[in-house]
This record gives sequence, structure tokens and C-alpha cells, in this order.
Amino acid sequence: MRDFPGIVRPFRNSYPRTMIDPFGRHISYLRVSVTDRCDFRCVYCMAEDMTFLPKSEILSLEELDRACSAFVRQGVKKLRLTGGEPLVRRNIMSLVRSLGQHLETGALEELTLTTNGSQLERYAAELKDAGMRRINVSLDTLDPDKFAAITRWGKLDKVLAGIDAAKKAGLDVKINAVALKGVNDDEFSRMVGWCGDQGIDLTFIEVMPMGEIGEQRIDQYLPLSMVRADLQRHWTLDESSHRTGGPARYYDVRETGRRVGFITPMTHNFCESCNRVRLTCTGTLYMCLGQHDSADLRTPLRASESDGPLDAAIAEAISRKPKGHDFIIDRRHAKPAVTRHMSVTGG
Ligand code: SAM
Ligand code: SF4
Repeated sequence: MRDFPGIVRPFRNSYPRTMIDPFGRHISYLRVSVTDRCDFRCVYCMAEDMTFLPKSEILSLEELDRACSAFVRQGVKKLRLTGGEPLVRRNIMSLVRSLGQHLETGALEELTLTTNGSQLERYAAELKDAGMRRINVSLDTLDPDKFAAITRWGKLDKVLAGIDAAKKAGLDVKINAVALKGVNDDEFSRMVGWCGDQGIDLTFIEVMPMGEIGEQRIDQYLPLSMVRADLQRHWTLDESSHRTGGPARYYDVRETGRRVGFITPMTHNFCESCNRVRLTCTGTLYMCLGQHDSADLRTPLRASESDGPLDAAIAEAISRKPKGHDFIIDRRHAKPAVTRHMSVTGG
């Protein structure tokens, strides 16, 4: 059978189904921002005086559940909750538990989370209980003062205690670190060593031009090719065949036995294998992190108790997924390529 863009067709007989975009890519991964709020104000992500959305615009937990379940019905196999900080959303565990039921039926293969770790001590065991196996924790530095400077409001010891709690609960933790020129670039080697000791994989992320944050992007941007070259002075990195279907490229660190990954949206085009779409907490679906085009799912969600209009809106949106992004950071492009913040689309 041929693949037709945007058409949700039965995969073999009737179930599971799959979504295919205009470029033949199977869309199997949904990232959902469950809130735009956060208990940190990371310098590359938010301005200190952020204005958050009014409650009426935010999908209720029941609406988020319905939207996510529609995607699962249409073939999404992996669901990542993000934000803002997902674990500051009140009663978030009711959504996690409800989505966890799709793991039990086998409709969903993975339910996971990206968190700043501040609330993990409280929630780690419950997350594991609801069916999560792995989580990503964002941690850019192991230096308490630097951590306070980057996150503005965060406390490093709380996050480290959260990581500990997650490991004790049996969750597989991966660390994501944004590489920031002149901020944490003297620490990368130490972080590789620390993650090795912790039995944790580490992924470096290039800073992306998202949202007005009152700082000059060009000042923060550090190409990961330079990070890798620096690490190779201290560690033996063997290219790994490990792939997650995402933009990360992995290396095995021979001395620690763990992996180090590099996500380079600025210097490499990873769009040709993109299998994901992003839903914001207002019900806006972005088919590409780096493009403005979007689809409104809140209207069909609120217009009808039946899921028919929602399913149709999702299929129509997938038929418009663009080929790729065009992020640019250079001196001629001091403005962000995309004006919405990462905390809106969830990274
Ligand atoms: N609050 C959670 C956290 O920090 O993990 C989840 C949301 S946060 C927006 C998701 C990821 O995006 C984090 O790893 C964060 O470091 C990253 N991020 C935020 N703004 C970014 C930017 N401008 N460029 C690259 N990564 C960014
Ligand atoms: Fe909050 Fe995550 Fe953005 Fe930091 S990166 S301000 S923790 S949403």
C-alpha cells in the first residue's frame, strides 16, 4: 500500500494505525507541553519577568488526556510530557496515571518526561508506578553558584536529590545540558566524568534561537563540534550506532562505559528523519519546532464531546508538516527565528 500524506490508515488490518506526513515520515512521537509555567527562569529559556497565559487558554488535564489519547489512537507510540516544568502543574499525576493506561493496553510504547528535576524527590516513585521507565533531567552545571546564575531561581542540591530519588525509584535518568559559551564550557569534561560515576548518559544541546529573552543569542551560542573536540582531549569517544529517532548523535565514552550525545539543530539538519510533533498547553499543535505554522486543536476539543472533529484536525495538521526548519544564529540575524519561547513548545 502507498503512503499518502496526512492520511491515517490502518497499518495492517485495523490496528495499530499510523500517521504519515507529506514527506513519507511516520509520525509516532508526540511531545506535550502541559504548562507554560516553571519554578526556574533559565537565562536561555525565559525572561525573568515572564507573563504566563491565563488559565482559560490552558487545556484542562482532561482535555490534555483526550488530545494525547487521540494521538495514541492515530499511531503515536511515544509520548513525552514537558513544559514549562511539567511537575509544577497541579494534579499532574492524574494525567500521568491516565496516560499510563495506554502502556498497559500496548497502544503506547513509551511515556516519558523532561523535567528540571526540582520536584523529582516528591514524584519519582509515583512516575515509576504509573509506567514511566526513563526520564530526562535538564542540568547544565554541577557548580551551585553557576546553577543559581543559569536558572535564576533553582537550587542545585534539590535537583541532585531529585536525580537520586529517580534512580532509587528505578527510573533510567538521562541528563540534558545546554552548552553555553563562557558559562559552563569549562565543565563539560567534569560532567562526563560525573555522569559516568552516576551510571547516567549525558546529552549536550546547542542553544536555539527561541523567544525574546533579553540576551544576545550570539553571546551564548557554542557549536557542539567544539564541545566534542574539547571532550576528546580527555575522553575516548567511539561513534555509537545508538539512535533514538531524534536529532541526537551518540558516542560511547570508553573510560566510563556510558554514552554522550550531541543535539546540533544549528549545525546539522536532522529534519529528514523527524518523527515528531509538538502540542502546547493551549492545544496548539506545532508540526515543526522551527516553523510558525500550527493547528488549533483546542477548538475541536471544546466544540464537541465526540472525538471526530479532533481526529480530523490532527490528520489535516499532519498533512501540512513542513520539510524542515530554518534556524539561523549569526550577527545579521540578532532576532530569534521563532519568537515563541521553548517553554511554550516544550523543547
Ligand atoms: N522545564 C523542563 C526542563 O527544563 O527540562 C522541561 C521544559 S525545557 C523548555 C526542555 C529543554 O529545553 C531543557 O533541557 C532546556 O534546557 C531546553 N531549552 C530551553 N530553551 C532552550 C534554548 N533556547 N535552546 C536550547 N535548549 C533550550
Ligand atoms: Fe523552566 Fe525548563 Fe525553561 Fe529552565 S529550561 S526555565 S526549567 S522550562
